[in-house]
Amino acid sequence: MSERVVKAAVKACRTYDSKDVQPAIDALFALCGGIERFVKPGQRVLVKLNLLMKRDPAQATTTHPAVAEAIVRAVQRAGATPVLADSPGGPYTKGMLAGVYEACGMKAVAEKTGCQLNDDFSTTTRYLPEGKAARRLDLIGVLDHVDAVITVGKLKTHGLTTMTGCVKNLYGTVPGTTKVEYHARYQDVRLFSDMLLDICACVKPCFAIVDAVIGMEGEGPSGGRPREIGALIGSENPHAADALAARLIGLSADQVTTLEAAKRRGLLPDFVIVGDPIEPMIIRDFDIPMGLRRGSWVRIMNRLPQAFRPRPVFVHKKCDGCGTCIRACPAKAIVMDARRKPQVDVKRCIRCYCCQELCPKTDIEIRRNPVFSLLR
Ligand code: SF4
Ligand code: SF4
Repeated sequence: MSERVVKAAVKACRTYDSKDVQPAIDALFALCGGIERFVKPGQRVLVKLNLLMKRDPAQATTTHPAVAEAIVRAVQRAGATPVLADSPGGPYTKGMLAGVYEACGMKAVAEKTGCQLNDDFSTTTRYLPEGKAARRLDLIGVLDHVDAVITVGKLKTHGLTTMTGCVKNLYGTVPGTTKVEYHARYQDVRLFSDMLLDICACVKPCFAIVDAVIGMEGEGPSGGRPREIGALIGSENPHAADALAARLIGLSADQVTTLEAAKRRGLLPDFVIVGDPIEPMIIRDFDIPMGLRRGSWVRIMNRLPQAFRPRPVFVHKKCDGCGTCIRACPAKAIVMDARRKPQVDVKRCIRCYCCQELCPKTDIEIRRNPVFSLLR
């Protein structure tokens, strides 16, 4: 095998029962050469989960606690100390994270395993002279106090990047509301994807895992439907892990903006798939948002002026006027009307889809411009 070829491991895993998940996680590390290649005794290892919001794990919005627990136990067996962490949408504070840890099942994981839940809410600044989009990044301060990072994505559709896995997951190392600033700064989706790759190059995860036991299709990353995929994926290269994950839901690298950026920048390695046969796991009718992310359409759509790109539509069926969308909007394009229903100024909207991503009531849809509505 040439030096450029890395392994991307996949194990079939049909349930979140620990009897299924633990051997599968252990096998991912073993198939990639053994956990000792990535985690050393005595290290403090940040396990970067996807904890987008306070959600029951059954809704498939967040990394499942059974996956987190299996990784924690593997890291502990390797003689290291795992720390569970994420910076979800909203303020990066102790109070906010306490609710997220509890709702997403991570408090219970900590109680069962004795692992730490990150309680350091400081920030740190990293400089990247080689960054393509970002030369300076403000990130969560706990990164300064760990020796290694494992990124643990959840396989879901995503309105902006088409799919979220291990690399997009690292956007959660940007603290709280700083994410809003970055959306405003990196409005073009190619630039935004380059910025995500810069974060990945800065954080340098030692291993990447995708929770694809049950993923999310449709209006992901928070408003879609759970869909059984039945797989766990692991690789020392996060781009290879994401490319394998994309393949399982019928997407090519060109259709996922982070993978397209990795390809363009020569960061997507050749990889060999090890573990279980993937053919039975591939889902050919996985519902991708807007039905537009097919073939070369993703590239065309991402080059269109904003006015032609899919826009957020506030449905006003389940909305309780919580205001999360207004606080999340980097363009300040949303106002609350007199009935306490949010209204969007589509001319100001930069199509970042943060409002849809963070709406706790899943009351915001992303709809195509009518000009493109007949195209699939
Ligand atoms: S649309 Fe969603 S986020 Fe916005 S106010 Fe209503 S419930 Fe809250
Ligand atoms: S309205 Fe929604 S999609 Fe538009 S800029 Fe604001 S948060 Fe982003």
